[in-house]
Amino acid sequence: MSFTDKTLTCRDCSNSFTFTAGEQEFYAAKGLVNEPSRCSSCRSVRKSQTSTDSGGDAGYERYGNFASFGGRTPRQMHPAQCAGCGDMTEVPFKPRGDRPVYCSTCYNKQRASSATEAVRD
Ligand SMILES: [Zn+2]
Ligand SMILES: [Zn+2]
Repeated sequence: MSFTDKTLTCRDCSNSFTFTAGEQEFYAAKGLVNEPSRCSSCRSVRKSQTSTDSGGDAGYERYGNFASFGGRTPRQMHPAQCAGCGDMTEVPFKPRGDRPVYCSTCYNKQRASSATEAVRD
């Protein structure tokens, strides 16, 4: 497949411009069937306008950050009665009947005193 330079008229500035063989090959490789309707200078103007438009993406970025911030959910706490002092406490897991639940104070006490017992267990 061979290409030859073509002279086309720009839609925007009405100047004639060359659609070179190399560009035609590039277009064909990209699967573009339409010839360019604007000269390269008008295309570059449109390109810069398009990139200005895409500045609107910054709004989406901000929204994305906000969304990811809101995506963090706090850990659900479950009310439970401390087996040590009988006070109501909250634990980050669902209390099961087969295990005693302690408040943080009693849990720390329990841990300290049961350190030796745990070996026997
Ligand atoms: Zn032009
Ligand atoms: Zn307690």
